[in-house]
Amino acid sequence: MNVLRLPPRKRSPFRKLSGLGNTRPHAGDSIPGTSVKRRGKQSPTAKRSQPMQDVEFVVVGCGPAGGTAAREAARAGVETLVLERDPVVGAKRVCAAGLRPGFCAMFDLPLSIVHCNPPTMSLRGLSGKRFDFPVGTAHTTTREELDGTIAALARSEGAQITTSALFRGYERDGARTIVEFADLQSGERRQVRARSVLLAQGSSARLETQPLTYENWAAGLITCYQYRVYLDRPAIDETYRVLEMHYYVTGAGRNVIAWMFPKRDHLSIGLGVAGKMSGKELRAELDAFLPTVAARLFPNVGYSVREEGNLLYGGAPRPNISDGDVMVAGTAAGLVDATTGEGIHEAAMSGRIAARVVADAHHGKTTTPGAQYEQALKGMFYGRLRHRHKLMTILERKPKRFDVLFEQLARAPRFAAMLQRDRNDFSLAEWAYLYAQAALFSVRALRV
Ligand SMILES: Cc1cc2nc3c(=O)[nH]c(=O)nc-3n(C[C@H](O)[C@H](O)[C@H](O)COP(=O)(O)OP(=O)(O)OC[C@H]3O[C@@H](n4cnc5c(N)ncnc54)[C@H](O)[C@@H]3O)c2cc1C
Repeated sequence: MNVLRLPPRKRSPFRKLSGLGNTRPHAGDSIPGTSVKRRGKQSPTAKRSQPMQDVEFVVVGCGPAGGTAAREAARAGVETLVLERDPVVGAKRVCAAGLRPGFCAMFDLPLSIVHCNPPTMSLRGLSGKRFDFPVGTAHTTTREELDGTIAALARSEGAQITTSALFRGYERDGARTIVEFADLQSGERRQVRARSVLLAQGSSARLETQPLTYENWAAGLITCYQYRVYLDRPAIDETYRVLEMHYYVTGAGRNVIAWMFPKRDHLSIGLGVAGKMSGKELRAELDAFLPTVAARLFPNVGYSVREEGNLLYGGAPRPNISDGDVMVAGTAAGLVDATTGEGIHEAAMSGRIAARVVADAHHGKTTTPGAQYEQALKGMFYGRLRHRHKLMTILERKPKRFDVLFEQLARAPRFAAMLQRDRNDFSLAEWAYLYAQAALFSVRALRV
């Protein structure tokens, strides 16, 4: 088998991640100064090096949350500025980039970004036994294409996207908020005054002041490592029709979530481990996992790999996600399904809701956009995501329970289908069915 590792780039995500082995894995460790601070009595205007820009809506981060918010707010006539740390939107995002069925239609995105449409999710627990579930027609893509396309569409609606702009903090200025950022190209510190602000920096968000801070945030972080596997010739046909998720335990007793998501020109094969794990250890785990996939899906096919590392959040949602007209979206708000690591749909939806309340404020329909935003998101996502976090805790405590759950899901496709929906749209009969299935699982899980 011809395994070729591409030479590591000088400043690869791996290097950033490998530092995590020596430190507490806290979001923002490799990004100094991303914490939210109110800097006491000092006048922010006294220190600025340029005249302060005034805009209606500042969005921090141009992932699916920030990009969608910018696109939809600009479309509604709101003057919108996005501050994005990276020089190219989406180019550095590490992600398996699986999208829910209907995602492109729901967010009005071109199907040209879709690589594969796998109709099946295949789950494996400790036993290694395979359980398949229909997932409708899911999509896979890359984040370069997803985030880049959303950003281009936001620009075409009139949003201004400033790249190489590192958000450093915000402070209140009467009814407005002053946002400070570093221009990474010139090295200058800049400020912009906004009526509403959306913080959408993903897992690297360090929100350390009340009411946004969340003491359990760092404990919810998962270190991830992924290979983009470029094959010399295509894998077996089935590879491109299935999203694989694997749940197992390392030799040292650490719970692992691993995946194989097919793409047009490569396979995303990666894993995540809760808490602190060095890049070296993660890579060793991935090197042990990869051959098990290769033997089934691309036996005797040569390949090269590109390595990527990133933090994922797998805890409960952040308890507070608004501070007056400052709102928190996407993964920064903890909107990730802890059982699968999926959060793109939640991110884009939170961006959409933020855009809606900001547009309502702009048109004089509300004076409390932040409060409305928080209420809407909590109603839409918190029940399900909190439940997923609890479920994951129960499963990881005794990993044999993964097989119990998967077996039940395989026997009850209606249960599996319901778990793929947002919880707030169930009928009474569906709730009753869901609770009956949950009770059945509890009884079975207690036996292992
Ligand atoms: C390995 C891995 C695999 C995943 N696979 C899937 C999957 O298959 N399906 C799925 O639905 N979800 C998946 N997720 C989760 C998904 O990536 C997130 O839920 C989603 O990216 C959240 O979008 P977001 O816009 O909130 O944040 P992000 O996508 O993280 O975007 C945040 C943006 O903010 C920018 N930023 C950060 N700090 C600053 C700053 N200080 N100043 C300015 N800009 C800043 C970043 O550069 C980035 O562009 C995966 C995550 C990981 C780590």
